[in-house]
Amino acid sequence: MLKSFAEVKNKLASGVSVLEIVEQYLVEINKNQHLNCFLEVFEESVRQNAADVDAKIKNGKAGKLAGMVIGLKDNLCYKNHKVSASSKILEGFESLFTATAVQRLIDEDAIIIGRLNCDEFAMGSSNENSAFGPVKNNLNNNLVPGGSSGGSAVAVSSGLCTIALGSDTGGSIRQPASFTGTYGLKPTYGRISRYGLIAYASSFDQIGPFANSLEDVALVTEIMSGVDKFDSTSSSKTVGNYTDFQKVSGIKFAVIKEAVSHEGVDPEIKSFIQESINKLRKDGHIVEEVSFPYLDFMVPTYYVLSTAEASSNLSRFDGVHYGYRSPNAIGVEETYKKSRSEGFGPEVKRRIMAGTFVLSHGYYDAYYTKGQKVRRILKDKTDDILNQYDVILMPTTPNTAFELNAVKDPISMYLQDIFTVHANLTGNPAISIPLGKHTNGMPFGLQLMTRHFEEKRLFDIAAYIESLN
Ligand code: GLN
Repeated sequence: MLKSFAEVKNKLASGVSVLEIVEQYLVEINKNQHLNCFLEVFEESVRQNAADVDAKIKNGKAGKLAGMVIGLKDNLCYKNHKVSASSKILEGFESLFTATAVQRLIDEDAIIIGRLNCDEFAMGSSNENSAFGPVKNNLNNNLVPGGSSGGSAVAVSSGLCTIALGSDTGGSIRQPASFTGTYGLKPTYGRISRYGLIAYASSFDQIGPFANSLEDVALVTEIMSGVDKFDSTSSSKTVGNYTDFQKVSGIKFAVIKEAVSHEGVDPEIKSFIQESINKLRKDGHIVEEVSFPYLDFMVPTYYVLSTAEASSNLSRFDGVHYGYRSPNAIGVEETYKKSRSEGFGPEVKRRIMAGTFVLSHGYYDAYYTKGQKVRRILKDKTDDILNQYDVILMPTTPNTAFELNAVKDPISMYLQDIFTVHANLTGNPAISIPLGKHTNGMPFGLQLMTRHFEEKRLFDIAAYIESLN
């Protein structure tokens, strides 16, 4: 099994071809079909692309990512390949262009192996909302992998590709990373172009990587980052040298008091966090508890604003422009109604309705406008903390992976995101790195958050924390 790019490069150095590496991954994918993480393997194009990269290696012309095999969350466009957002409504749809983030990896000779299951339109925290069935956690098949990028997390954790891309609107990279013992990054809003990512909530969405090593996360982030003329919200700020981890000293850590003492956090996760804090202090860093008294407002604000944006973004799926059209409809109105009723799953419908409600005349100010105001307060308070401290430290998730079908109430599911929506509401970069293993056998992550566009610092600090273990 090849779990990191370093291992792939070792293979290449020992004379193994990229095509052989791809074949190895294909064997692993076949062996692990029960996990339901791949919706499709691009068997034909992946072999052709591997052969092309092998030829480039021979000519000494290969890019930085030659040999890296990447899985895409099924909401990222890859030209001439299917993409469905794990929804029936995009049935049969093929991408007409490639997402910028994906193209930048391909330009460095990475290879795309297939598309990965996720919650429908990236809405969910357990990967149980896919039209193609749930993904199973590879570490314990009775448990969920987290969501919405569950397929990406499992594919990486079980060695079915070197790297997987996901999207994170409220935690969909970091939460499944925590549940599968992998690394997952949500970059600063604007760091990576969203062009070619099927939009859920545009002011929250970011593309990011999953990997089994911090080095790999840093490497692909560096390559994907930077301004893109196709996404006006992408930033032209210079991209740092993320892979060259610098030694850190005298770091000021802020620990969110309300998060670490939250009654919903598993006691074992709490004690691991405390242990990390002790180690950091012992090593000469300043670690202080700070109050962030808005924790209870995070999830409601996120759901008001993200559903509002979703209701608008998903209006394009009307049975006319894309994918599925109801065969039972007569006339325009019925085509819209039936195609959408039959094409969308229950969670997506719930969100479209909630979002339409909060934007409706008469309720707009009470919900949407208020949500935007709260978002501003959250951002200001977070900036205040990060003006005094270098990094915010908290758990990624309040618990380890839960059982399939165990969380039935939508509100309880939404509360899974309690620690992750913060970074999406404020736009800050945040990473989840594996922190420990619970006595129930499952891993969980530590979440770190830095100032906007301080990915470099985030990686340096994460690398340092790893070195303490
Ligand atoms: N679980 C959150 C939601 O359901 C986050 C999803 C995401 O980040 N895409 O909206």
